Amino acid sequence: MEKSNGTRVILFPLPLQGCINPMLQLANILYSRGFSITVVHTRFNAPKASNHPLFAFLEISDGLSESQINDDPTSNVMSLLAQINVNAETPFRDCLQKLLLRVSERVSCLIDDCGWLFTQSVAEGLNIPRLVLSTFKATFLNAYPILPCVRTKGYLPVSDSEAEDSVLEFPPLLKRDLSRLYGEFGEKLDPFIDTIVDTTMRSSGLVFMSCEELEKDSLTLSNEIFKVPVFAIGPFHSYFSASSSSLFRQDETCVHWLDNQEDKSVIYVSLGSVVNITESEFLEIAWGLSNSKQPFLWVVRPGLILGAEWIEPLSEELVRSLEEKGKIVKWSPQQEVLAHRAVGGFLTHNGWNSTLESICEGVPMICLPGGWDQMLNARFVSDVWRVGIHLEGQIERKEIEKAVRMLMVESEGAKIRERMNVLKDEVGRSVKDGGSSVRSIETLANHILSL
Ligand code: UDP
Repeated sequence: MEKSNGTRVILFPLPLQGCINPMLQLANILYSRGFSITVVHTRFNAPKASNHPLFAFLEISDGLSESQINDDPTSNVMSLLAQINVNAETPFRDCLQKLLLRVSERVSCLIDDCGWLFTQSVAEGLNIPRLVLSTFKATFLNAYPILPCVRTKGYLPVSDSEAEDSVLEFPPLLKRDLSRLYGEFGEKLDPFIDTIVDTTMRSSGLVFMSCEELEKDSLTLSNEIFKVPVFAIGPFHSYFSASSSSLFRQDETCVHWLDNQEDKSVIYVSLGSVVNITESEFLEIAWGLSNSKQPFLWVVRPGLILGAEWIEPLSEELVRSLEEKGKIVKWSPQQEVLAHRAVGGFLTHNGWNSTLESICEGVPMICLPGGWDQMLNARFVSDVWRVGIHLEGQIERKEIEKAVRMLMVESEGAKIRERMNVLKDEVGRSVKDGGSSVRSIETLANHILSL
């Protein structure tokens, strides 16, 4: 760590795994530049303070009841975010007021997730500059101002003959991606989106976990749209691992299992921390993996399958067949898994963290996005960078078997892997000395000091 610069930064992650990981990685990045760190967090999905002894942690009430928490509020992320965005405002303001009176250093800024709707007003009321962290690709956040009007444009419902057409306002998205992108929420999302655009424009800067090598033009556009300084400081996990901020116990036995597999032979399967699938979709994936005859490591998060605790929908016959070639775990040390020499492919929901982690390890993907920004990330992977195969939402055993075999054993897969290696190297350069992301960290640190 550099010598302390006498300045404290307050961080406030949304209580979701895909937001907590980058925020704590950002905490490490800033700490290594001499900043003191306070992490304010909700009671629900609280990060484990003991894993981060260098930072101060302050818990605030999120107003969720025990039964709501036990029922897994992430099963409906939009409703969760709406509730805690109301419940947490007063506790957050009180917490910040007390903190400002207590700390000895100068508090230079608050950095929080763009999904918090009240923090800009609270920060303005307390005279603290606020920076926004986007856990989305810049191209996706740039589309926020137009998302409500694209929804009402008359594209939906999309007919079969138009499904392959581009959404002209939002390339490289296809019309077939739109209904999953908006999900069941429709116009209920509009006030959220409007507030996020407004509060981001009133902020003192926008931080992306991304880099020029992936989306230079989009980053320039972010600056033009939101009219604030933009910092693309790279895939955060390239500097600090996400393991210490995992909310679930990581099953390390899968790494030993991987040790006994051939190089690049295993397809890793995970749909992240929020996506849900039906029992029949789960069984189709199971049959597809089994029929592919490729070794696989499959993360089945408890709660992934609607209406099931864990993997009990599998018949004994299917369990026997799966055990011949694969291993199922509840949660994995994903970065370690993707970096393992035995892993040759990733069947993913294309959350932005997972997509970046896969690119950084040069692991080509099979794309099965669940909704929202994942639809766009998957299009970049399959259609723009061409480092993956898109399942086009077809959760059918034959399609899964075909995609796994194409990626892992056929010549098409070898070409995809070659392109992925080139992309990996480009992104890798950005986080090396003198690279675009490292330079951007320097600029961000100076910007924070100047606030
Ligand atoms: N992750 C993990 N173990 C798993 C599955 C996921 O550690 O078994 C981590 C993964 O490395 C990533 C995060 O959880 O950092 C998921 O974030 P992402 O944006 O990909 O998806 P989300 O969970 O937000 O949908």
